[in-house]
Amino acid sequence: MSARRKPAELVRPAIQRLSAYRVPDPGDALKLDAMENPYGWPESMRTAWLERLRDVPLNRYPDPAARRLGEAIRRHVGLPEEMGLLLGNGSDELIQMILMTVAGEGRRVLVPEPTFVMYRMIAEVLGLDYRGVPLGEDFALDVDAMLAAIRAHDPEVVFLAYPNNPTGNLFEREAVEAILDAATGLVVVDEAYSAFASDSFLPALGRWPNLLVMRTLSKTGLAGLRLGMLMGPPEWLGEIDKTRLPYNINVLTQVSATFALEHAEVLEAQCARIRDDRAVLFERLEAMEGVHPWPSEANFILFRVPQGQGRAVFEGLKARGVLVKAFGDTGPLADCLRVTVGTPEENARFLEALAEALEEKKPEAGR
Ligand code: PMP
Repeated sequence: MSARRKPAELVRPAIQRLSAYRVPDPGDALKLDAMENPYGWPESMRTAWLERLRDVPLNRYPDPAARRLGEAIRRHVGLPEEMGLLLGNGSDELIQMILMTVAGEGRRVLVPEPTFVMYRMIAEVLGLDYRGVPLGEDFALDVDAMLAAIRAHDPEVVFLAYPNNPTGNLFEREAVEAILDAATGLVVVDEAYSAFASDSFLPALGRWPNLLVMRTLSKTGLAGLRLGMLMGPPEWLGEIDKTRLPYNINVLTQVSATFALEHAEVLEAQCARIRDDRAVLFERLEAMEGVHPWPSEANFILFRVPQGQGRAVFEGLKARGVLVKAFGDTGPLADCLRVTVGTPEENARFLEALAEALEEKKPEAGR
């Protein structure tokens, strides 16, 4: 029998260098680390949804084009008829499809950083040349640096999260427009948090031939369904569609998301509530000694704790049963934590735990 090769011999070096995207097991902790909507559906809506599911034929493949759901989404977002729509198993899958479409030797992706990590991860898996351009003061786009990088590298794709994750800010519209004017490749404006934001590039579709807008239902309240949408000129989407696996939107997602959009007012009211509670949470964080929150147009808030305390405060929160996202102790997000806006009760519990965790650190800070 011939010798079997080891992973180190077989696995592509680019994959060996990666670490898998790990999601911590929350146990019974209050989960404020993943930008989920904390609210469920009213009982009458749940009953109607279950009734709808009763007749779903699980023995059949789903509609490969998800036509009914596609129509519901078009109506919901007001997508102009001449624009194309492509659905993904979460917007993560759409990012993967976009990058698979352009991947190849020497192909480049340009992204301001810090931002959503999947752009980099997927680019690296696919062997693309990934370039991060540091954000400027208070995480604003550094337009000059972005334009210089576009001139120098002429990237196939630029991703701009609008608002940005994990910083929560909406980049200056003029800065995004300058990038759209300059880029010769695709510019994907990722509006994952559009339900909480005051601006959008959806109405601008068509003004730039290479502008694509991506959204997701995850943050609006349907994270468990996994549904992302990509919108833009059909000549682009038709090409990207070729990378899609057949039946990528399962039948339960198709039926459930269509149902949810028939009751969009319920989700919209929840998002309005979250926006109001975000303002309260921001004020409370701002009033806390040693805490610096950044204004947010998303359903989370990024804040910095005193130097060197990020990890300890994260652990202190965890010990009190509250899970947030930490960003380590170096780089532009040193000692920063990101908290998802929860229900008013959850936000109060988080703030209490944060006050205690900071207090616990105080005597040490003086040492
Ligand atoms: N884009 C951004 C900016 C995000 O923050 C996220 C989720 N963290 C996604 C895309 C992916 O969302 P989903 O795959 O759930 O649609």
